[in-house]
Amino acid sequence: MNLQAILDDIAAELGPRLGEGKVADYIPELARLDPRRFGMAVTTLAGETFAAGEADAPFSIQSVSKVFTLTLALGRAGDALWRRVGREPSGSPFNSIVQLEAEKGVPRNPLINAGAIVVADLLLAGRAPKTAIGEIVGFLRFLADDDSIVVDETVARSEADTGFRNRALANFMRAFGNLDNPVDLALGVYFHQCAVAMSCRQLARAGLFLADGGRDPLTGRNVVTRERARRINALMLTCGHYDGSGDFAYRVGLPGKSGVGGGILCLAPGHGAIAVWSPALNEKGNSLIGSLALEMLAKRTGWSVF
Ligand code: GLN
Repeated sequence: MNLQAILDDIAAELGPRLGEGKVADYIPELARLDPRRFGMAVTTLAGETFAAGEADAPFSIQSVSKVFTLTLALGRAGDALWRRVGREPSGSPFNSIVQLEAEKGVPRNPLINAGAIVVADLLLAGRAPKTAIGEIVGFLRFLADDDSIVVDETVARSEADTGFRNRALANFMRAFGNLDNPVDLALGVYFHQCAVAMSCRQLARAGLFLADGGRDPLTGRNVVTRERARRINALMLTCGHYDGSGDFAYRVGLPGKSGVGGGILCLAPGHGAIAVWSPALNEKGNSLIGSLALEMLAKRTGWSVF
């Protein structure tokens, strides 16, 4: 299979459609992005990387970060995490508040905003926010084998200034006793993890361990157990695209996690990790062109898990 040719075809075929969709405009810094940008990278378990478009351009990983903070939180709290957050698809938008009230401050899953704020709160336990943020960035650098990864402070500030809905979610959870730290501190960690800037190449590399049963195939290091990797994959498949998760599973058939920066990390278990970026989003807040690119890739490689 010629992966480079497949990526080149995808980029060429989608070229005329770039710009379809709408960039996230509720975070002013993201609203400035050119909707026609596009990048894609595939890293195989054998360590080969194939790329198309702007695969080395850093972008705001936003909610893709939730996969990595979940991994860290499970490492720290284990199954105790599930007392504070569920494991069911929400069927609701990523920043929905209705469900949270009805379900007494326990978010449906760790990949929607409310769930990720609980995870950030857990990662903050016994630490200063700066330390917790440093640990998250350090984990990403370790996984991507790249010390140049940093938080884009302008994006973090932009979101902190306008994150009214997230503040509402956090306040609700605090009222229900599901947030241990002051709302502003937990949100500080959450906004910074979302504002980490990474390229498709770095993101695919960082996610590779999840495509190989929890073991980084290039270093041989066990990042998580096989069982935990399987579970994180299951959550990505069922919850990684919010109320668009069913459609993504139907069309792509791979575990994935999207972010409103336009990035998607996708795992092809036993084959490799894929990252795609294009900032214009569909109505569910997932990269429109990114989803199409992954659908084409899954079709041509036969990598769907189904
Ligand atoms: N930082 C964004 C927010 O909290 C993340 C949402 C997303 O990527 N879907 O609104």
